[in-house]
Amino acid sequence: MLAEGSEVVCLDNFFTGRKDNILHLMDNKRFELIRHDVIEPILLEVDQIYNLACPASPVHYQYNPVKTVKTSVMGMINMLGMAKRVKARILQASTSEVYGDPLVHPQTEDYFGNVNPIGFRSCYDEGKRVAETLMMDYHRQNGVDTRIVRIFNTYGERMLENDGRVVSNFVVQALRGEELTIYGDGSQTRSFCYVSDLVDGLIKLMNVEGEDVHLPVNIGNPGEFTMNELAAEVGKATGKDVKIKHLPLPTDDPKQRKPDIQRARDLLKWNPTVPLAEGLTRTVRYFSGLVGKQIGA
Ligand code: UDP
Repeated sequence: MLAEGSEVVCLDNFFTGRKDNILHLMDNKRFELIRHDVIEPILLEVDQIYNLACPASPVHYQYNPVKTVKTSVMGMINMLGMAKRVKARILQASTSEVYGDPLVHPQTEDYFGNVNPIGFRSCYDEGKRVAETLMMDYHRQNGVDTRIVRIFNTYGERMLENDGRVVSNFVVQALRGEELTIYGDGSQTRSFCYVSDLVDGLIKLMNVEGEDVHLPVNIGNPGEFTMNELAAEVGKATGKDVKIKHLPLPTDDPKQRKPDIQRARDLLKWNPTVPLAEGLTRTVRYFSGLVGKQIGA
C-alpha cells in the first residue's frame, strides 16, 4: 500500500506483533505507527480500515480468553464506529473457525457452522462470529461499507517462533533437530495458504465494487493435508530426517478443513499461487535465518 502511494497508519498493541516486522517501514514518511489496543476507542481520519486485530493462534488466544472476546467484540464496535463516523470502508478479518468442526466439506460461505459456544476455542470462534454479526448489522442499519473475509490457516515469513500454530511449530522443531509434535493421530486435515496469497486476497476484496460484496468471502488454499502429510512436507523442505512425537489432541480440534473458494474466484478473480512445498521452502528460509543464530542450524 505504501508502494502504491497510500498513507498507512498501523495500530498494534504488540501482544503477538513485533516492531522487527515493520522496522523497514519506519523511515517512510507516509507510515505511522501507533501503539494502541482496539479495545479502546480511537479517533482517526481514514478511507479504509483493515481490522486484523486478535491473536489467531490457539495458544495465544486462549492465554487470556476474556481479552480475546473483548478484542473481537469491543474492538469491532470501535472500528465500526470509526468507519461510520468518517465514512470509511472497513474489512474484517474473520476466520474459517466460524465453521467450527464442520459437517459440510469443503466449507462454503453459506454453511452456518458447527461451533461449541462454551469450549476453549469459543472465545475466538464466537468472538469472530459476533464480529461478523456486527459488520452485517452496521451495514444494514447504518449503511457502513463492509467487507468480511474468512481466512483459512495462513503461514509464512514473520511468524513468531513461539506462535504455537502447526506450520511454525514443525519448521522450528525440524530446524532445531527436535521431534515434531503431532497432536492426536495426525489424521486431521487443514488447508494452508501462503501469506502473500492471503494479502493479495485482502486487498482485492477491500477494493472490489458491486453487489454482494458485503457477504463473507473464503480466502484460503484448497490444497488439503493431514498433519502427518504436513510433517513429511516439512521434512522435505528442511532436508531433515524428522522424528515424530504424538501429544494429546486438544479439545474441539476440528477434524477437517478445506475452503470452497468459488466465490473469491468469481468476485475477485483471485486464486492462490503458492503451493505448500514452495511456501514451506520460503518459511524454512526465514526461520533458518532467525533460529539458525541460536541453534547453529
Ligand atoms: N497441531 C499439531 N502440532 C502442533 C500444533 C498443532 O499437530 O504442534 C495440529 C492441531 O491439533 C490442529 C492442526 O495442527 O489439528 C492445526 O492447528 P493450528 O493451531 O495451527 O490451527 P487451528 O486450525 O487448529 O486453529
